[in-house]
Amino acid sequence: MNNIDWSNLPFDYYKTDYNIRCHFREGKWGELEVSSSEYLNLHMAATALHYGQEAFEGMKAFRGKNGDIRIFRWEENFKRMERSARGIFMEPVPKEIFREAIFKAVKLNERWLPPYGTGAALYIRPLLIGSGAEIGVKPTDEYLFVVFVTPVGPYFKEGFNPIKIAIVRDSDRTAPLGTGMFKVGGNYAASLPGIKKSKSEGYTQPLYLDAKEKKYIDEIGAANFFGIKNNTYITPDSSSVLPSITNKSIMEMVPDLGLKVEKRPVPVEELDSFEEVGACGTAAIIAPIGEIKDLNEGHTYTYSKDGKPGPVSTKIYKKLLAIQYGEEEDTYGWVESLE
Ligand SMILES: *Cc1c(COP(=O)(O)O)cnc(C)c1O
Repeated sequence: MNNIDWSNLPFDYYKTDYNIRCHFREGKWGELEVSSSEYLNLHMAATALHYGQEAFEGMKAFRGKNGDIRIFRWEENFKRMERSARGIFMEPVPKEIFREAIFKAVKLNERWLPPYGTGAALYIRPLLIGSGAEIGVKPTDEYLFVVFVTPVGPYFKEGFNPIKIAIVRDSDRTAPLGTGMFKVGGNYAASLPGIKKSKSEGYTQPLYLDAKEKKYIDEIGAANFFGIKNNTYITPDSSSVLPSITNKSIMEMVPDLGLKVEKRPVPVEELDSFEEVGACGTAAIIAPIGEIKDLNEGHTYTYSKDGKPGPVSTKIYKKLLAIQYGEEEDTYGWVESLE
């Protein structure tokens, strides 16, 4: 056993027992390998290291109320990783290899799966990297697929409490015709100036506007944006937003909570008219937002008057968790149980 304080687990890397690897060489994928090393033996000229030819995913396994191990919408993560791979000319991982690797990684590290009721989960991190040696900027012909897992608590130390967000106008995470819609490493390097800036001003995360006109909302750090008003869930439609599986799930779920859904460009000024706003993603689940400050223009938008999350965000959050932990019937078919 281990003596982790599951209920106070941060969102940090934590060593587990095993990880899974699979190599693409000479035009084909090899066998899955189980490793207990945290290190990769990588060629120093690997394209992932120099030119960011790399994609990753993030999903969670939960210990259900009845004791089962529940993986949330892994097929969606598989499809997104396939799009990311094609987007930067990498060899996509076949579905069977993806599935087997993540299920095996979870199963072999079962003792690191946080118990039901602690609010924690086992985060699954697949990555696909260009491992072949090149010195020119071009796609390589060797790839390495790795899956590791790590137990995590809430992404934001605030938990399910309103966070403060800063609109950052002097850096962009991606361009309209860039790679923002793919989960590839380079986007996150490019997002660090915005993250640094918002943190140094006392805010939790940056809100990025569309890079071309700075008129519309894109997303928040590594989470999608949503706003609630007039009984409607509104989320940006933009070519440079990463299509969040959490956001997609919420859009599919909220009609059952009596809400309408709009996916469309969201102008910054509309921030004045929302009743609630929030960020959503696998790591954050739902983070309600209490305040948004436009750092360059000075304007502040405030939501939560009593320091609490809004009623609609709370309803969405509770329903999503109830499905993930198996407290409510999964009528959408989002969860696959291991046993
Ligand atoms: C991963 C990610 C999200 C959230 O996507 P989920 O599938 O819900 O985890 C949102 N934005 C960015 C930039 C991301 O990298």
